[in-house]
Amino acid sequence: SIPATVGSDLLVPLADGRVTDYANFDHGASAPCLESVRAAVEAALPSYASVHRGNGYASRITTQWYERARAEVHGFVGAREDDQVIFTRQTTDALNLLARAVPADATVIVFESEHHAALLPWPAERTVRLAAPSSTNQAVTAVADALRSAPEGPRLVVITGASNVTGEIFPIAEIAAVARAHGARVCLDAAQLAPHRVVDIEELDVDWVALSGHKLYAPYGVGALIGRTDWLDAADPYLYGGGATASVNGNETVWNQGPARHEGGSPNVIGAIALAAACAAITKHREAIEQHECTLLPRLRTGLAQVPGVTTYSIFGAEADRVGTVCFTVEGISSTLVSAALAAEYGIGVRDGKFCAHPLVGHLLADSPEHGTAVRASLGLATTREHVDRLVNAVRTLATNGLSRRYEESTHGCQP
Ligand code: PMP
Repeated sequence: SIPATVGSDLLVPLADGRVTDYANFDHGASAPCLESVRAAVEAALPSYASVHRGNGYASRITTQWYERARAEVHGFVGAREDDQVIFTRQTTDALNLLARAVPADATVIVFESEHHAALLPWPAERTVRLAAPSSTNQAVTAVADALRSAPEGPRLVVITGASNVTGEIFPIAEIAAVARAHGARVCLDAAQLAPHRVVDIEELDVDWVALSGHKLYAPYGVGALIGRTDWLDAADPYLYGGGATASVNGNETVWNQGPARHEGGSPNVIGAIALAAACAAITKHREAIEQHECTLLPRLRTGLAQVPGVTTYSIFGAEADRVGTVCFTVEGISSTLVSAALAAEYGIGVRDGKFCAHPLVGHLLADSPEHGTAVRASLGLATTREHVDRLVNAVRTLATNGLSRRYEESTHGCQP
């Protein structure tokens, strides 16, 4: 059975004074902490100490926890023996770290449909941006064409495992095979894929994987970059300081090799422990997680698609393989107001906006110019069938009757 999540029993007040349990459809942004993650953190909290720095008992134990956490994350993504796991703050941090390590003469190829975290860190003058793909085959062909016309030198293809806007899964192994044929490296942004599907570096034959703890049912502040060492060992340390250094003599500094090179400063041990506990729980319950989503996602997608006035959006088409995320708009009601009404009247939490993927949302909504933004509903472990039915019925009521109250056009002040 699926492990319970902290917060799944949250009660929320509605605009009419009733109280209901919270239907969280924002797992794509962050997923609430698992009980087993909370237990792992609680166990470590009373006795943690600095890692790799002290010979005291607590330091040695904490160092063991930290390195065990590294091994767990390594196994979670099926990394090769000589791949390294560098703990980072989140996916954004992991991708920025890799961007600093890309050789100076490298060409980077990236789809415009990426999340900004995967779209923006690369040096602009050496980055080829491909238009959002129209089919999985076309995505593979576009990468092949770009690689054929790329200048000599190292190349890096950056792809998202699953779109944070539509949940659709990119043809990762196929793109990686094309990259290999052209001697290119591949970085997989697994922020959205890893919580839902197995990510196996070796099987996919990618070079790096980036992920975030807070999307994997661990708290904020920890993520990882996992993969090949060569570019990273040749790069300047990400943060200059203690831990990154092997020795400092006068003006001469020798930097560490391996993960320590890029983990300057006292590391987030508790975060690493939390991330590892989440990876362990997800691995253990992988089948149940996929089964849960397999039951709920078609119910949500079909339910929403059948509501007159609702449009759902897709990159690759209705048949694409996807994780539990649906992107939609409601005719005549702005997405901010849809999400405000869902929260206030039904206790439903969705995300609205452009989801830090402005080019992709612009592309998907090009034919519905009245909608600059969309609503995103993303499933997680705490989602129930009742939540799905509540969301579909609420959207139907909104689409049929319009808004029953006045809401501020923007309740959260930005369009991330
Ligand atoms: N890539 C994708 C596909 C994402 O969905 C996100 C988070 N929305 C990120 C990268 C960035 O993750 P974080 O904010 O944890 O750095």
